[in-house]
Amino acid sequence: MFKIQNLIGGVLTAPASGNYMYSVEPATGTGYCLLPDGDERDVEAAVEAAAAAQASWANTPATDRAMVLLRLASLIERDLEKLAQAESIDNGKPLRLARAIDIPRAAANFRFFATAIMHERSDAHLMHPTALNYTLRQPCGIVGCISPWNLPLYLFTWKIAPALATGNAVVAKPSEVTPMTAHMLGALAAEAGLPAGVLNILHGTGLKIGAAIVAHPRISAISFTGGTATGASIAAAAAPMFKKLSLELGGKNPNLIFADADFDRALDTAVAAAFTNQGEICLCGSRILVERPIYERFLSAFAKKVSQLKVGDPNDPAVDQGAIVSNDHLQKISRAVDLARSEGGFIHCGGRVPPAFNERCRGGSFYQPTVISGLPALCRTNREEIFGPVVTVTPFDDEAEAIAHANGTDYGLASLVWTNDLNRAHRVAARLDSGIVWINCWMVRDLRTPFGGMKHSGVGREGGDEALRFFTEAKNVCLRLQP
Ligand code: NAD
Repeated sequence: MFKIQNLIGGVLTAPASGNYMYSVEPATGTGYCLLPDGDERDVEAAVEAAAAAQASWANTPATDRAMVLLRLASLIERDLEKLAQAESIDNGKPLRLARAIDIPRAAANFRFFATAIMHERSDAHLMHPTALNYTLRQPCGIVGCISPWNLPLYLFTWKIAPALATGNAVVAKPSEVTPMTAHMLGALAAEAGLPAGVLNILHGTGLKIGAAIVAHPRISAISFTGGTATGASIAAAAAPMFKKLSLELGGKNPNLIFADADFDRALDTAVAAAFTNQGEICLCGSRILVERPIYERFLSAFAKKVSQLKVGDPNDPAVDQGAIVSNDHLQKISRAVDLARSEGGFIHCGGRVPPAFNERCRGGSFYQPTVISGLPALCRTNREEIFGPVVTVTPFDDEAEAIAHANGTDYGLASLVWTNDLNRAHRVAARLDSGIVWINCWMVRDLRTPFGGMKHSGVGREGGDEALRFFTEAKNVCLRLQP
């Protein structure tokens, strides 16, 4: 069986413990490779390697760093098919989706930040006639990047690319549930000419490797994407050490559909927003709120469309939904639907595991796309993240009620608003407690924009200048001009 290894100082290295864990293919339920069950000794070795490499990387001219990262982007594109297959096996997502979204976006992340640093400029503040201030933006040093399983290479590179571009050395940890494409990225980075030790990739559990990265005194910034409870424990560990923190956490995103909206577009996008990637995207619109005059029509058209979605083998190009990432997560989704039932929800479609569709996937983790109505707008099902193919549909009577329901959770990541009333669109967008508002669209992403959430959905922002600033320390230099 193939054994993934840690990448430390440019060398594939066995974990100090000598222990490995299985990585399971969710579509089949079988362990298909081994990955290190690392611990703090591996983190120590990775920090040593990063410390040895960082100054020279930081002093490499930005254009040369950019060339390495641009080569890496091209190598990801060269290996798109291999990477897409690995991502689909590891995560359970349709291969078609990994080819179209995950892997191209990983390449785009490197290309975006490689070119961004070639356009870098810094502020100067003239105190005429006394002094001139200018701002140096210097790398943080060694940074930790910790990512989740839902968009494995996409989110891993979303952190690593700006961290490397700005001259940091990185100690990175992908999710132990989906380690394969991170492992493959290590080899491509070396082929692209990234010096050994600049990117170190460690594998293992959050409690051992993740926590040791957060706790390491020489790692000065942590960029984390994952669950809100994990984010809270990372914040508690990092705060007394005064580390910079970027936390991208959970969501329970409202999709507000007003009666004047373009019905067909809102309907089609609501289906995609709820069920793409098995609903395992932090930005999924999992609470659909519909204005009363079109509520019944929308609900029946929506449930009909969702019941036609095809769940199946991720290798089948015709499937809309592949496997849930793990059996544990499948059980969590199933319990959430049981809770919805006990809260009085009516299940229009789904709400169970689908019948077996082929021999290969008999032991896999699958769940039918599920539509629930009849729940109070602020019940637990409508406030707690499920992170699976489960969506609720709830009516509202006016704009104020729509906003109150939309803002009625602890989360504040993304919202969708459907209306053809321009004034209402802007008014509602301004009043929603979320870091991202999509008006008449979903998942339209410009990498220059701030990305992140309010309330329990996170701290700080990624993307564009926000990421470049996060991974650098601003230093004001003040020069006296008068003798
Ligand atoms: P998770 O929090 O369980 O794990 C995320 C990563 O953190 C993994 O690599 C894990 O090993 C590590 N980890 C776990 N415990 C740790 C600890 N104590 N210290 C340090 N690291 C630790 O999340 P998950 O189940 O992998 O991902 C699903 C969650 O991620 C969902 O809540 C989803 O909303 C969220 N998410 C958010 C965004 C966003 O941009 N806001 C994007 C994708 C996913």
